[in-house]
Amino acid sequence: MDWQKEDLKYIWHPCSQMKDYETLPPIVIDYAEGINLYDINGKCYKDVISSWWCNLLGHCNPRINAAVKKQIDSLEHVIFANFTHKSAITLCQELIKVLPEGLCKFNFADNGSAAIEMALKMSFQYHYQTEHPEKKRFMALTDAYHGETLGALSVGGVDLYSELYKPILLDVVRIEGPDCYRCPYGLERDCCNCECFKKAEEAFEKYGEETAAIIVEPLLQGSAGMKVYPPLYLKKLRELCNKYNVHLIADEIATGYGRTGKMFAFNHAGVSPDIMCLSKGLTGGYMPMAVAITTRKIYDAFYDDYLKGKAFMHSHTYAGNPLACSAAIEVLKILREDNIIEKANKKAEYFNKVIKEKFLPLKNVGEVRSIGLINAIELVKDKETKEPLDYKKRTGYQIYKKALQNGVLLRPLGDVIYFNPPLIIEKNDMDFVTDIALKCTKEILEN
Ligand SMILES: *Cc1c(COP(=O)(O)O)cnc(C)c1O
Repeated sequence: MDWQKEDLKYIWHPCSQMKDYETLPPIVIDYAEGINLYDINGKCYKDVISSWWCNLLGHCNPRINAAVKKQIDSLEHVIFANFTHKSAITLCQELIKVLPEGLCKFNFADNGSAAIEMALKMSFQYHYQTEHPEKKRFMALTDAYHGETLGALSVGGVDLYSELYKPILLDVVRIEGPDCYRCPYGLERDCCNCECFKKAEEAFEKYGEETAAIIVEPLLQGSAGMKVYPPLYLKKLRELCNKYNVHLIADEIATGYGRTGKMFAFNHAGVSPDIMCLSKGLTGGYMPMAVAITTRKIYDAFYDDYLKGKAFMHSHTYAGNPLACSAAIEVLKILREDNIIEKANKKAEYFNKVIKEKFLPLKNVGEVRSIGLINAIELVKDKETKEPLDYKKRTGYQIYKKALQNGVLLRPLGDVIYFNPPLIIEKNDMDFVTDIALKCTKEILEN
């Protein structure tokens, strides 16, 4: 069977111009182990982007496999209204031990965007039910990414995804967010006082009263090209939100689960959000599951006699899926018992050092930035002026194709090459993937 041909006969792949598949047909993966993906011809690809940032502890992790197998023989799924099961309860008990203080009520969904929708609706309804019906707008940062359903897309600020749909999106208050590589104030990420925060202050002064919540990707704007900003920004935002009775929603879908070197990015700032959304790493990349976690205070504003009409009437059929919960419980166990994050932080030092040594000397590398094991290499036309490459040349895409030929799955964001590997990556693989990435980058840039 020609699997590639059959695929193209039926499947419309996500986030793809399908015409590109004429020259780069889909790679048919047969099995996987650790960071390795194997196609039907036995060729290996190093998955250093964790299959869209969700694989946390390697593919076909024996412990997670066993946990899911055990679950499937007792309960595969059950309606989550009025019914519950041990795995969902256990997951909450375990998760609450590691969450920022105050987050204690868990509302389940089945993908990240759905959790964002839930957070936005929850915030609006909270204010509505606490005598602030005027609070019906949301704030978000430039270059934000929060998913692709209409609400999530509305708060997102990456034009590539949202520009076309603007006529049907919510009217969001857009705040110019931190842009540390091209800081308009000429300051440095490691030692600034977040001067850019005054844009948030101005927006709150103008729109704070009518705003229900602000949503942020804490410390790392992933889809924008792995843009990193300092924890101080979150601290200041927490204070500002308190002052204006605006909820702070943490989209930790990409940053949670040790990706930034701590369990959650918010841990770096030492403050708590009012609602936190998790997905991706939550199940180790096994099952589609997400959760919006909130405070007792928000929960209580919905708690009343049925006829008061205050319930949160939001549901997803697969909410609290037991198979996903069983994977998620095992992920937390492995993180704790094997000191995964601590070990990943040691590896991160090495990874960052190697990447800087290899890439910074290239004349088209503008910046190497890192947080946790995530490292991003921003390619530019001119190092001095930081002028971007001509996007029409699709340099990142050319590097992607070349790296695939060489057995490494990179998936550059525009002209930003990045690594966001499973936390269990080993040193020899770090050496290998950075060698290949360097070789391919040089070859494409020299052409
Ligand atoms: C992936 C992602 C989402 C959306 O999650 P989906 O499961 O793809 O809908 C939202 N926010 C951030 C920060 C993400 O990285």
